[in-house]
Amino acid sequence: MHPYQESVGTCNACGSNQQRVRHHMPAGFYAHHAYTTYPWDGAQQASLTIVQCVDCGLIFQNPRFKAEQLGLLYTDRVEEHIDKEKEVSRHKFKPLLDLIQQHVKSAEASPVSMDIGTRYGLLPEVLRRMGFDAHGIEYNPLCVDVAARSGFVNVHQGTVDNLHAVMNQIGKERIQLVTMTDVIEHLLDPMADLRALSMFQQAGDHMVIQTVDAGSWGYRLFGKWWYHLHAQHTYYFDETMLRRYFHELGYDITAVLKVRRMNNLTILGKVWREFKQHQRDRIRLNSGAEQAKKKWFAEGRPTLFDIITVVARKRS
Ligand SMILES: [Zn+2]
Repeated sequence: MHPYQESVGTCNACGSNQQRVRHHMPAGFYAHHAYTTYPWDGAQQASLTIVQCVDCGLIFQNPRFKAEQLGLLYTDRVEEHIDKEKEVSRHKFKPLLDLIQQHVKSAEASPVSMDIGTRYGLLPEVLRRMGFDAHGIEYNPLCVDVAARSGFVNVHQGTVDNLHAVMNQIGKERIQLVTMTDVIEHLLDPMADLRALSMFQQAGDHMVIQTVDAGSWGYRLFGKWWYHLHAQHTYYFDETMLRRYFHELGYDITAVLKVRRMNNLTILGKVWREFKQHQRDRIRLNSGAEQAKKKWFAEGRPTLFDIITVVARKRS
């Protein structure tokens, strides 16, 4: 094991310590002289192993980077200024917003929403325009500063661990709608975070969670080469696991949105050709035969836009 990695003892969903290895990529799977790799292994030549709980089926990374070393995996650039109206006009949340409009009903005039890992607060900004008293929490203080400078309101610095402080600060006790887009797969203890959030919800309140779909055609077809397998992603959920997870928390899944199979099929040919090229390139570049400009490790790694979004409703 790499010194920056540690073993995950038990399953986050069921507590079992029985796991089997699904994929193992040895250190140097993408050679550093040939590839830029930081979300893959933190540029540390660490191995990546994806396991599955024998008892409940949860898929996760084990070992994984220690919390204090996670910064190595998150080196993306922060914008200096965001053109708020431009971003609002070209956001990609339409399917998510349609889902919320159809399935999230609230008796209150302006229900509180809280977006976890909100980055610059774009989703809360859009939800505000739909009538929510919308807030977001973002871990990276640089993003929070940029959000404030760019006119986004209610972007609070912190994590779910700071939730009590944030709720005190905004003078609210209840969150009618929790949103997480592309966040749950990065968490170190998603069950604990969801549980902490659920403490601020009442019967009939909702969580809307969007994540990469481990039950997708993309993952089934491409296995260890799937675009979304890398060190930033600690947990991989499918519909069955999300239903189990939320049942455990006292919620029912009331709606599920996935990419339609037709949409997958139309791009499959192109994705397949790029993928085969990617495999050939990796052998050639890893061998050191060619000292070209470094490639991005994920270039040509296949995805069929394998995303799942669920609406979970708290039981009475
Ligand atoms: Zn389990």
